Amino acid sequence: MSGGKELRCLVCGGRALIYQPYLGGYLCKEHFVEWFEKTVWETIRRFRLIEEGDRVAVAVSGGKDSLALLSLLSRWRERLGVEVFGVAVDEGIKGYREYKLEALRRLAEELGVEVYVGGFREYLGFTLDEAVEVLAERGMEFTPCSVCGVFRRYIMNRVAREHGATKLATGHNLDDEVQVYVMNILKAHLEGIAREGIATLSGEEGLVPRIKPFYFVREKETLTYALVKGIRTPFVECPYVVYALRHEVRHWINEKASREGEFKYNLLASKEALRGLIGGGGRTTRRCLVCGEPSSKLVCKTCLFRAYLDREYAGRVAEKVAPLWDRLDRETRSILKRMLKE
Ligand code: SF4
Repeated sequence: MSGGKELRCLVCGGRALIYQPYLGGYLCKEHFVEWFEKTVWETIRRFRLIEEGDRVAVAVSGGKDSLALLSLLSRWRERLGVEVFGVAVDEGIKGYREYKLEALRRLAEELGVEVYVGGFREYLGFTLDEAVEVLAERGMEFTPCSVCGVFRRYIMNRVAREHGATKLATGHNLDDEVQVYVMNILKAHLEGIAREGIATLSGEEGLVPRIKPFYFVREKETLTYALVKGIRTPFVECPYVVYALRHEVRHWINEKASREGEFKYNLLASKEALRGLIGGGGRTTRRCLVCGEPSSKLVCKTCLFRAYLDREYAGRVAEKVAPLWDRLDRETRSILKRMLKE
């Protein structure tokens, strides 16, 4: 309500639900849902994210975005001519992950889709809670989110691949994309900018191609959609989120966007322009010497972080890479040297 006058939908004059900055007005529940689904559908078709016959794994964190994506794609199974299932990672974060997994299992049952869960313990031998203890002992040189993100991507890819996925769909929305873009700018991480597009290149052995059907919708829109569709998830937050640089970046972007409605869209446009210049894609051309998984370097980031957290693993890595020591990048050499000295 504003000045006693009820806000109205731009299309039908019905009761307003959400303000859409680029339309310069409001949409009601019905027209918002119609707009949201049309936008996601057109994104999938225009960028050929999903093709008939695909077996789509939806990466579900248990948050509203990924649950909304699982719900939407499972409803569109027939329309798209695909199979859909969920993949999730259990990092072993007490007081958080168990509640999110419960919500995911409940929704999956309602939707009639399978969900496969890969655990840190099972794939890495330790939980994130245990890893964070080691990180804290070493003065948090790496944040929990930086190691968690690398491990999560590694496990997601393995679980999706082990269950025959031809695509791995993530719930990343426009806000996620511009936050990662700004963080990559701050770290001068051009390779990260090149890699983070709407889809990764297909045809790389061992790497399930990733797609982002929510690329052009804002976080507020995915949350509103989930709410309207009755998708529920317990309100628990990961205890390690406070360590994330992303927290600050998100706050800054939202603050700017509250004054400049186009700000997030402009950031996304700038990201795409830069990707065009530096050559989007970030192709992974080799296999990690240690674990054999796809990697852009001789030793993948998962093995490097595992070595950092576990001296025994560091010894195994050093043994494998000994003949190629001079070809390793500086970060890998420095972490291995330090681990072996301790
Ligand atoms: Fe992992 Fe960080 Fe997400 Fe927590 S907030 S689940 S530590 S990436």
